Amino acid sequence: MHKIKVETAGPREIVDVTASVSRLLREIGVMKGVCHLFVPHTTAGITINENTDPNVRHDMLQALERMVPAGGEYRHAEGNAAAHILASIIGSSTMAFVENGKLVLGAWQAIYLCEFDGPRTRTVLIRVLPG
Ligand code: ZN
Repeated sequence: MHKIKVETAGPREIVDVTASVSRLLREIGVMKGVCHLFVPHTTAGITINENTDPNVRHDMLQALERMVPAGGEYRHAEGNAAAHILASIIGSSTMAFVENGKLVLGAWQAIYLCEFDGPRTRTVLIRVLPG
């Protein structure tokens, strides 16, 4: 298993980690397989989405804020209940195929670490199963 570290800068942020994952794949040297990505956090998630227009990430954060307001009424005493909810909505894992040592993503896709309770240092665990 491998890991990459991601430093987030704000309370809620969508960070493109595609280049870091691609670099790791080159280091590992796996040419073909399935790349599993898992975020071992309860207030962050990982997803794949549009990589060109930064407004998409902005709109995603705005829509998530409307669905689960940071300042809403929650019981969780730590004060980060909204972040926990958003982490489950986005999910803690994703995957991508690897061919010829490279991620197989659509032309407009990137892998995003979604921070909901930052800034923090986040970890993405990665395992590539050859095949
Ligand atoms: Zn909490």
